[in-house]
Amino acid sequence: MRLPDSPDLVIMGDPLLFQQHQQVSVDEIRTDDFQHNLKILMERQLEANGIGIAAPQIGWGARVLCIGISEEAKDRYPSAPDIPQSFWINPQVIEVSRETCWTWEGCLSVPGIRGWVNRPASVKVRGFDDQGATIEASLSGFAARVMLHEIDHLDGILFTGRIDDAKLMIPNVSMETQSSWPENWPTENARITPPGTIAKDR
Ligand code: ZN
Repeated sequence: MRLPDSPDLVIMGDPLLFQQHQQVSVDEIRTDDFQHNLKILMERQLEANGIGIAAPQIGWGARVLCIGISEEAKDRYPSAPDIPQSFWINPQVIEVSRETCWTWEGCLSVPGIRGWVNRPASVKVRGFDDQGATIEASLSGFAARVMLHEIDHLDGILFTGRIDDAKLMIPNVSMETQSSWPENWPTENARITPPGTIAKDR
């Protein structure tokens, strides 16, 4: 499958975002079409100022994702750390910490909404790079968060499905007034933690 040069972002409501997606073979990675799709995936992420994107979000049903936070892409998460731009193909979670953390997540496929989400604080991941070589990384903090969010997309899970309380889902217009929210609302840490940083407790 060869993506068009400028595919639309797939938005919540589309069944593609709720499906388990297929593994990719090493032979497939080396094809022209696959390499073209990788290029388009990264372009779409950067165009949208995203810090990560998964293939299903541009209509590509494959276990492929791209993450990275550059100085220029910090509009949506001004407080986030730098993360080098990289492709992950068939990423697999090898280990997660028992310790968890909380952060405000957003998603290019869920425009205008953020959610206060709990996930493992660190993660070890293995997969292929853009040439089909095996790569592995141990990530913690915000980088772990981005990776776990993107891997969820490959299994048809959106961050909204990880929110256990409707008051922890906030429109961006309300996020802009975060500093004036009532004390301890919607939780103590949700109020004081800016997007792009993490909190140890709810
Ligand atoms: Zn997402």
